[in-house]
Amino acid sequence: MVIYMIILDLEWNRGYDRTPLEEILQIGAVRLETLGGPIVDTFSIFIHPCVHKKLNQTAKALPELQSALDSPHDFPTALRLFSQWCSGDSVFADWGGDDFEILRQNCAFWKIPAPPAAQLIDLQMAFSLRVGTTQGMALYRAVEYCGIPDSFTFHNALHDAVYTAVVSAWVNQESLTLLALPKEIRRLQGAPDFPPQPERETGPYASLQTALNSRGCRRPLCPLCGEAVWVRRWYSDHPDRYYSDFRCKTHGSFLCRLHLSPTESGQWQGRLSVPEITPALLRDFDHAIHAREIPCKSVKPRKEFRRRYHRRKPASGQ
Ligand SMILES: [Zn+2]
Repeated sequence: MVIYMIILDLEWNRGYDRTPLEEILQIGAVRLETLGGPIVDTFSIFIHPCVHKKLNQTAKALPELQSALDSPHDFPTALRLFSQWCSGDSVFADWGGDDFEILRQNCAFWKIPAPPAAQLIDLQMAFSLRVGTTQGMALYRAVEYCGIPDSFTFHNALHDAVYTAVVSAWVNQESLTLLALPKEIRRLQGAPDFPPQPERETGPYASLQTALNSRGCRRPLCPLCGEAVWVRRWYSDHPDRYYSDFRCKTHGSFLCRLHLSPTESGQWQGRLSVPEITPALLRDFDHAIHAREIPCKSVKPRKEFRRRYHRRKPASGQ
């Protein structure tokens, strides 16, 4: 059985009034046999806007705005035709992950059910992972990058869906697998090699939570330039072991691991390391992410102690 994929693109108007709705002006879609495969069907419908009285700059600049203004269809009619066209196919993809969300938002506004989606694929993110950037690339830039002739005007929902379909040929299974991973792990995929880093002993701390919040445990160093970076949260699947990713502005993302062990006097001792990123380490990190997230609380400044100290001072002078 062939599982079809529907690539969806929308044009919309974000009004200036208080109704929080990205009012859809056009639904465009293409059906693919497989990612990067031939387009087997297309869909396009313009929708007459009736919620917002004014158009925003982006909507005013749409090349086929007039087709929406002249359209006899309202959103419920357009959605019914679109749902019929989808005919039960429920793997959707779009460029940037917004389109399906906005479709759902409009359905909620009109109180009609959105087409059921078994899977939503953000092809912009998948494409970015494929070509090795962390920034979302604009569709026209991706088209340029792939050397696809820009035969149609952009910002017509059907044209953009066709472009997205053609660009999707560059997305491979590996980038789709990456796409399914937590973003913390994706960020580490492109981490540069670095020399082995010494472990750092920290503590002792009065409690486990104090250790996790402490400056000593939360300041790993970039293994390439030595800059200290704050860790904002820990991930853990084991009371002794904590992981976090951290980002040097110059050298990108790295992973640090914190081992905590109790001392004989009931305190906690830490060992902080920035280990080499291996598939095994990423697997451990993945387990930790799915087990528990522990946000760090900033350590309270020691103002109170200082104030007390100052208050005592004149007394000692008498
Ligand atoms: Zn650095």
